[in-house]
Amino acid sequence: MALKIRAGDRRALARAITLVESARDDHRDQALALISKLREDAPQALRIGLSGTPGVGKSTFIEGFGLHLTGQGLRVAVLAVDPSSTRSGGSILGDKTRMDLLSRDPNAFIRPSPSQSHLGGVARRTREAVTLCEAAGFDVVLIETVGVGQSETMVAEMADLFILLLAPAGGDELQGVKRGIMEIADLILVNKADGDLKPAATRTQADYAGALRLLRKRVQDPDGFPKARIVSALTGLGLEDAWGDMQTLSDWRKEHGHWDTRRKAQGVHWFEESVRAGLLARINADESAIEAMRLLALDVSEGRLSPDHAAAKMLDGLA
Ligand code: GDP
Repeated sequence: MALKIRAGDRRALARAITLVESARDDHRDQALALISKLREDAPQALRIGLSGTPGVGKSTFIEGFGLHLTGQGLRVAVLAVDPSSTRSGGSILGDKTRMDLLSRDPNAFIRPSPSQSHLGGVARRTREAVTLCEAAGFDVVLIETVGVGQSETMVAEMADLFILLLAPAGGDELQGVKRGIMEIADLILVNKADGDLKPAATRTQADYAGALRLLRKRVQDPDGFPKARIVSALTGLGLEDAWGDMQTLSDWRKEHGHWDTRRKAQGVHWFEESVRAGLLARINADESAIEAMRLLALDVSEGRLSPDHAAAKMLDGLA
């Protein structure tokens, strides 16, 4: 399987992603072995995180942007992260037909969100899928998520660049975007800058450009970043410039060591997350640990123990 993936076989890649998505213990072992084999000498893709609320134009943007990249001979993988997708009949992000042209492009690979709702599980599966796509030689891996809650931060933690897609809006909409999201965005793209919406898009872009200038300058950015610009996923306006920005930023970061630093820090972050998740899973699989948790929770709720004291007792019991 590893050889086929390295050779860029898309069916082998799809099967490998199914393997990393499996919850079965034997599959998990196989997946870990496969991933560690493929990590050796794997080429590095540019990992781009993309977020935006439903309806903002993510699918349309990915289709237009993806085709722009494949048109330049680049190979593009698209992974979707939708931790809220418990709805049936395919999630918003799972609907391939919305990227119809791109999904039929031999230089593109589109994978819908794994159909389960646990954020930690989705994070691990997505990271492993990114590794598989890199091993398969994709130049760009787009990781798409709906703009809800923690999924944006999670995607930013596994991407080299994080892009926020916005729609043109009225004046007070700026406050709708949380400051935390602005702080992790490298590029804000105000979509739908066409037809009647163009003036509103231009105004929104100016508002965000102003807001970005108020943020603290980040060491990992060259002058002028983070940046806001207008695009139209429908007409293609601004897509080439947006790609230029992404290249400028990634080249600059590579040159100044920030690219490596970021990937290393992300590795450590996910290692720690994985240990935390594993410890919790171990507790949840152990009857006596569950009972100890229950009793200590009772002590906390009835005021006999402070939360931290109870936690210390619990952890001492585990050691
Ligand atoms: P998603 O939910 O974020 O994936 O959004 P979609 O890509 O499905 O787009 C939602 C709606 O916005 C669709 O009706 C698109 O045709 C429309 N749309 C997307 N991009 C543009 C754009 O650049 N200009 C205009 N006018 N409409 C757009």
